[in-house]
Amino acid sequence: MKILVQKFGGTSVADLDAMKHVLGKVQKGLATHDKVIVVLSARAGDTNKLLALAQQWSAAPDKAESDCLVSTGEQVSIALFTMLLKDNGISARSLLSWQIPIQTNDDFGNARILDIDRDTLYKLLESYDVLTVAGFQGVTQDKRITTLGRGGSDTSAVALAAALDSCECEIYTDVDGVYTTDPNICSAARKMDCVSYEEMLELASMGAKVLHIRSVEFAKKYKVPVRVRSTFSDDPGTLVTKEDASMEAVLVSGIAYDKDQARVTLRDLPDIPGTAAAVFGPLSEKGVLVDMIIQNTSQDGHTDITFTVSRRDLPKTLEIMQSISEKIGASEILHDVNVAKVSAIGVGMRNHSGVAARAFTALTQEGINILMISTSEIKITILIQEKYVELAVRILHDTFGLDWDIA
Ligand code: ADP
Ligand code: ASP
Ligand code: MG
Repeated sequence: MKILVQKFGGTSVADLDAMKHVLGKVQKGLATHDKVIVVLSARAGDTNKLLALAQQWSAAPDKAESDCLVSTGEQVSIALFTMLLKDNGISARSLLSWQIPIQTNDDFGNARILDIDRDTLYKLLESYDVLTVAGFQGVTQDKRITTLGRGGSDTSAVALAAALDSCECEIYTDVDGVYTTDPNICSAARKMDCVSYEEMLELASMGAKVLHIRSVEFAKKYKVPVRVRSTFSDDPGTLVTKEDASMEAVLVSGIAYDKDQARVTLRDLPDIPGTAAAVFGPLSEKGVLVDMIIQNTSQDGHTDITFTVSRRDLPKTLEIMQSISEKIGASEILHDVNVAKVSAIGVGMRNHSGVAARAFTALTQEGINILMISTSEIKITILIQEKYVELAVRILHDTFGLDWDIA
């Protein structure tokens, strides 16, 4: 049985007109496959409205109840779309996560998929041509509803494709595919025909929200070919697939940016063994993810440590740092939320030196001050003032020859 998983994002299901485009894509899917599993997001804006509603009711909404509320956005989409399918003569039914089930752990708001009951899906596919599944949600072993983190419907879709035998996965969105950078901020961005799992992982983790990072992890682990396409065009889109030799020839394949950054500096810490552990241990115990870290060279036995966290984790981070400041001996705790990071990503960096220097020179020539740097085998990340982020993306895009050739 040839099965196709098609996922449609918020703008694709925003209203009846958009859903008619989705209907067309599902009909095309059924023309080439025996069965289609459709995974839907909430209608554009609905998840934000539900999150705001929870905030109106409670200063610190209970996480499990927040998931119970926020997951309803997807329920609305699947019910409405299944009506449309049936009115068009397609045999279909909707499915919430608990009806399959898509089992997750109990990390509410950021749950991980542990298991999907594929037997239920195969059984239902004997009776229906299309199953319409609510994205973004799962259920714990003791039957509580969870959500998978913002943008998590991509992960629902790829996990479903991974659970079924040799199943393809299409992610439909509001752009034609994966671009060399966000096409909404850089008009010179180019659509890529294909991108490796490794590069897509880095792009997604560095802020390119076109795919949820965990969807790429699933795709890589279970070798699911994922095609990112537009609901509103016939463009073949971008294939996310395993690396091949031709990809190595390209030095930098994409630029990503992330404005969800806050910088914290601890001043005049004693430069002795155990200081870093005393700072970062309590943060990791409280679930704060630290991103970039710099420790300055020692002066008179003292040093500064600077690190970045997500902006939503800043209040918690500052609270923890205040509580341990005496113990760790910090003279001052400083913070800055007006920062953002830009990253250049490419598997070709493995075999080439000088990429970082080119990036620094290009930014410096435009007067952009570099606040922090981190590198990995296939990525350079630079922290800068937030007001320069769009300019920095365009400069790096141009520097590494990613702009459209408009000759
Ligand atoms: P959906 O609601 O369909 O899941 P998202 O808003 O989550 O859509 O993701 C699509 C958006 O991702 C695009 O509109 C675009 O602004 C943004 N984006 C960021 N980086 C990239 C990139 N490299 N390629 C394509 N889109 C990108
Ligand atoms: N509706 C959820 C969100 O807005 C999940 C998704 O769209 O993928 O984050
Ligand atoms: Mg998305």
